[in-house]
Amino acid sequence: MKIIDIINNAIEKKECHFAFELLPPLKGDNITKLYSTVDMLKKFKPAYINVTYHREDVKYVERGDGLLERRITSKRPGTVAISAALMAKYNIEVVPHIICGGFSKSDTEDALIDLSFLGINNILALRGDNLRGERVFKSVDGGHSYATELVEHIMDMNRGVYIDNEVENTHPTDFCIGVAGYPEKHLESPNIEMDIEHLKRKVDGGAAYIITQMFFDNSHYFRFVDLCRAAGITVPIIPGIKPLSTKNQLMLLPQAFHVDIPVELARKAEACATNKDVREVGIEWAIKQCEELKAKGVPVIHFYTMGKADNIERVAAAIF
Ligand code: FAD
Repeated sequence: MKIIDIINNAIEKKECHFAFELLPPLKGDNITKLYSTVDMLKKFKPAYINVTYHREDVKYVERGDGLLERRITSKRPGTVAISAALMAKYNIEVVPHIICGGFSKSDTEDALIDLSFLGINNILALRGDNLRGERVFKSVDGGHSYATELVEHIMDMNRGVYIDNEVENTHPTDFCIGVAGYPEKHLESPNIEMDIEHLKRKVDGGAAYIITQMFFDNSHYFRFVDLCRAAGITVPIIPGIKPLSTKNQLMLLPQAFHVDIPVELARKAEACATNKDVREVGIEWAIKQCEELKAKGVPVIHFYTMGKADNIERVAAAIF
């Protein structure tokens, strides 16, 4: 089923559904931890599960002569295979993330063809972040530079148009596309208004819905939805929630995701003696956020698990 149909159904029936995002295991690890997470969360009847994609990373290794050698490594392969495995094992809709970074257009098309053959017809289309050590995002030769271009590429395939028009009598793919939105604006954007203009291009290009970056203050989300609607974006905007779970995250989350942590939450977390206590503060805060979002009629709440999901289980138990 298409994710947009699941969302529209929920809107029509005034329901609020649970959904979550998983990271592929680190290279060398196995899939059982992921299955344990799904086993823990499946009682909340997730509308779908997203599977993130992680581009190659840069590692500096000391050479014998005292100089450093730059090596490209891959830490989390397996997004396509994991998505297929989850769909087969749990009979649930999966949404693999496809990114521009590190992909040529042919790589992208090949990955999409694999997904289509596997019967996976839902995609979250993203640009991806800069490679570590690079100040700006650089696409590989012949790769996409913005998520808009990736959305256009997928929509071409949905019309049966493949790269270079090199094949005839093609079968169109049937992808439903989601894209990312940023209630506190994307870090590279000069202002929220221009960020929303770019978001609108993704939607006008064919994206059926938006999932937001995490936020800890619901007023950012409500303002963002208002600005999007005023800009003519009419598709559903699914809020993304992550419970704060360690003291370090007070610094790391704003650094990595360019989001604000409200004073009240930050003070409560700072006053905690242990990270176990911070986890409780984070759960309590996320429950309050979700209660308000649900009361305002959001059709789905998307949870960022970031590897550990016991806190998500607690929040979901209170809400769904
Ligand atoms: P874009 O929509 O391309 O936007 C990037 C920036 O460029 C923005 O500032 C935008 O305003 C600007 N822009 C867009 N189009 C133009 C244009 N034509 N001209 C000038 N400027 C333009 N990253 C991963 O690597 N893997 C994941 O699995 C992953 N999952 C994510 C899931 C969600 C729900 C979210 C919110 C983010 C996720 N990310 C993931 C992070 C994401 O890849 C980064 O935030 C990335 O920096 C931007 O991706 P985007 O798709 O929003 O990019």
